[in-house]
Amino acid sequence: MTTFKLLINGELVDGASTLDVINPATGEVYTQAPRADAAQLEQAVAAAKAAFPAWSATALEERRAMLMALADKIDAALPQIAEVLTREQGKPLQDAQGEVFFAGYSLRLNAALDLAPRTVKEDDNQRVVEHRKPLGVVAAITPWNFPVMLLMNKVVPALLAGNTLVIKPAPTTPLSTLMIAALCAEVFPAGVVNAIVDQNDLGGLLSAHPDVAKVSFTGSTATGKKVLSSSTDTLKRVTLELGGNDAALVLDDVNVQEVAAKIYHAGTYNAGQICVAVKRIYVPAAMYDEFCDALAAQAAQSVVGDGMEAGTQIGPLQNKMQYDKVRALLEETAKTGKVIAGGAALDRPGFFIAPTVVRDVTDQDPIVADEQFAPILPVLSYTDLDDAIARVNASIYGLAGSVWSSDPARAEQVAQRIESGTVWINSHMALDPEVPFRGAKQSGIGVEQAREGLLEYTQARIITVPKS
Ligand code: NAD
Repeated sequence: MTTFKLLINGELVDGASTLDVINPATGEVYTQAPRADAAQLEQAVAAAKAAFPAWSATALEERRAMLMALADKIDAALPQIAEVLTREQGKPLQDAQGEVFFAGYSLRLNAALDLAPRTVKEDDNQRVVEHRKPLGVVAAITPWNFPVMLLMNKVVPALLAGNTLVIKPAPTTPLSTLMIAALCAEVFPAGVVNAIVDQNDLGGLLSAHPDVAKVSFTGSTATGKKVLSSSTDTLKRVTLELGGNDAALVLDDVNVQEVAAKIYHAGTYNAGQICVAVKRIYVPAAMYDEFCDALAAQAAQSVVGDGMEAGTQIGPLQNKMQYDKVRALLEETAKTGKVIAGGAALDRPGFFIAPTVVRDVTDQDPIVADEQFAPILPVLSYTDLDDAIARVNASIYGLAGSVWSSDPARAEQVAQRIESGTVWINSHMALDPEVPFRGAKQSGIGVEQAREGLLEYTQARIITVPKS
């Protein structure tokens, strides 16, 4: 069994104490992770601060080469990282392998980006050039649903731009992050990447730390608001990738069976624990019954189980707190809605929820209005498309969404009216590392991925050069 260490100033070290990491497929302790205390957090921030001047002075090409070397190491360690990821997170092994593969793939694409100076204006008298400079120490704080992929979305642009890092994963999924940190220790100079683990007690200290120049945070909207308020003292830069309540809006010209199967997958992949999972479905009244039945048939066929077992399609929820929250939500739903598939926890150890389809619910029911973060699909009916669009938009969230139609041009017109950062047509969750990703409304501030994402880890410096 791998031993897991924090990474502070180039050294792989024990934590001040340890914490238990639970395997969500059994509910039992899988192993221990090192847990940092506030003093180790200070050491990590100090190391990142001390490493910044030399690191930011390296050539971008040099930093790019190191990131590519990290990609090679992640690829080589894929089987080991994926297995640990399944055991700590719960997702099926092939999905864990896919996540680690995707992390390496997106690492290479984003590390290939450029930050060349840009001439903003030029005339006979002057040349005005925008340079992009790193910010300093970046705190990268990640959630438990995609610990590897979401981490790399931050590590790559932060380092490529010349910043140094303190990484902090979610307490329930620290191990795959520590494995990546150990690979970073083999590639980057001491202090450039630091990784600490907490028990949900150091995030506030880290995001308020005066020596942290930027916080790149992915997690819930509630915690994102805390991060934003703790940034005010030093006017830190923040990127907040937060919660979502993505709607799939089905138009009246679709092939029901085909579209229901795709939407079912987009609502239950990773046990529905995806910021951009489908969390509510709007279907024309004329095809409502058929659509609901098609979803229920999908749910009945899904193989739910331990992610380490071959054939498992849906694993457990990641942690007990989420499991308890979802069970309470389902109990409430049983009183108001019509559950046509699943609707309860599985009677077995671990944090398993049966894939659930609920019909005849209203927009106000918590199962629709809240972010469930579980394999639950509430289906709502509509008769007027304008009204359906208004209902889709009546959410505090605006992360992503999808429109489904056999006429893509018609769907595009509808998509333009959906108030979210991303809208897919005839697909959902088609995230692409070369495409910027951002949330509207309370789903976030700032952007990740692609050149726009890279620029968020820089400060513009405009230099005006006279011509004589
Ligand atoms: P969370 O907000 O509970 O925790 C996220 C991280 O914040 C963890 O590392 C946690 O330890 C840390 N944290 C806790 N208190 C903090 C504080 N006061 N200051 C700073 N950090 C603190 O989120 P979660 O439950 O781990 O993740 C699920 C949520 O993440 C969902 O809402 C989901 O939609 C969202 N999410 C968003 C995206 C996106 O790109 N928009 C992607 C994945 C997940």
